[in-house]
Amino acid sequence: GAGKEQLEKEYQRFKELFTLTPDRLKHITERFVGVLKQGLEKDGQTVPMLPAFVFGWPTGDEEGSFLALDLGGTNLRVCHVTLQGKGKFEITQTKFRLTEEQKQCEGQELFDFCAQCLNTFITDHFGSGKEDEEIILEEDIALGFTFSYPMEQKAIDHGKLVRWTKGFGNPNTEGKDCAEMFRKSLESHKVPIKLTSIINDTTGTLIASNYVKQHTKIACIFGTGCNAAYMEHIKNVPKLKEYELPGDEDMAINCEYGAFDSFEHKHMAEIRTKYDEYIDLHSNKPHEQSYEKMIAGLYLGELFRLVICDLIDEGVLFLGQNTYKLEKENVFDTAFLSLIEADPTDEVLTCAGLFLHFFGVETTMEERQFFKKLAELIGTRAARLSACGIAAIVTKMGYLEEGCGVGADGSLYSKYPKFPDRLHQALEDIFGEKGKGIVTHQAEDGSGVGSSIVASMTLKRK
Ligand code: ADP
Repeated sequence: GAGKEQLEKEYQRFKELFTLTPDRLKHITERFVGVLKQGLEKDGQTVPMLPAFVFGWPTGDEEGSFLALDLGGTNLRVCHVTLQGKGKFEITQTKFRLTEEQKQCEGQELFDFCAQCLNTFITDHFGSGKEDEEIILEEDIALGFTFSYPMEQKAIDHGKLVRWTKGFGNPNTEGKDCAEMFRKSLESHKVPIKLTSIINDTTGTLIASNYVKQHTKIACIFGTGCNAAYMEHIKNVPKLKEYELPGDEDMAINCEYGAFDSFEHKHMAEIRTKYDEYIDLHSNKPHEQSYEKMIAGLYLGELFRLVICDLIDEGVLFLGQNTYKLEKENVFDTAFLSLIEADPTDEVLTCAGLFLHFFGVETTMEERQFFKKLAELIGTRAARLSACGIAAIVTKMGYLEEGCGVGADGSLYSKYPKFPDRLHQALEDIFGEKGKGIVTHQAEDGSGVGSSIVASMTLKRK
């Protein structure tokens, strides 16, 4: 393997490539603010800033019994939530695994399956246990539906699917009102429940986190992808004009800001590396979700792998070893970077085991120390870049003076070592001392609790 000196030289090269100075962060944030504003101006912008038709913050005193159904990826989740007021709640839930067929079958059949799961849940939780018995609930229970795909909303109980993502492909669903489709399935399966609201999970996370901690003004997700939601003044959303809403009210906005810098890639041109370019071009949607591709869990492992492959080609790493297992796309999970970074020992033995076990290659101690420092560079860049989106919302809304809480969720935030610390450091680099007033914390469950709170707010408003 390469000697310590050569690896140190390589490290310096990558350090230069992946380090984001405070000035860079400030510039990106500035441009980000402009892009957020553009999205609010009119429909069809790169960062779409989707109005969620959730009007204002919860009071924290919302109470009552609600059902929530979450369709957003691997599992379908049904929850019963009791809101107790004073920011308190209780939740029970059941997960139903979705099969590949269910992700591709007729759209209406998918919603039929949702209705069946809901029925099963109700029978288990509210029924007497007798088979084939029709359940009669003591009172109507409202259902909040969390549907985490890009949708256009005109009202809180309406959501037109723009396009499927995350591997779903059910025909006859794109372009349709999925709340209406689900309602139809509830009726045909005689489920005695009223669907009151349909929301995106990020919006739910915003509402749930504010319900529990009123200081929370922004929610963001750092998981497979990245996104954020916040509460905007309706008067500052020109594209909402046609709805003639009261201008003194607020509405939650689902930013879908993972799309920042898509297509032209001009806002982050100075910091895009050839590895970012490669990931973008080899993804199933080239040129889309550019910001997300430099941050999110789906991509960081691949970034690390691409650097390693470069060094293999240059004859720096693993000389004389068979590295074919490392040369396949997407074989390096972001969780591996977490493991490598979390290893506190000089020998970085976690890293040795990982490379040997998963990729069949031996590593020297120098190589492992290099890998750990490389992981730090990649993880730190992601966290610092994550801060720019938050800083843009803070700037746009003028939250810096008073400070605010930011509810954050996703494996990257909760499991990647030092991710929150690095993000906070970047906020200070952007805002100076005042940046200390912008504090992230683990978010509350958006698709269960958040969806229920929105259902409750919707009933109150009617
Ligand atoms: P989702 O965003 O799909 O709801 P998660 O928040 O769990 O789900 O994010 C999943 C992503 O997080 C995957 O891309 C995975 O590679 C990454 N991931 C999972 N575990 C870890 C970990 N321990 N450290 C860093 N990333 C992780």
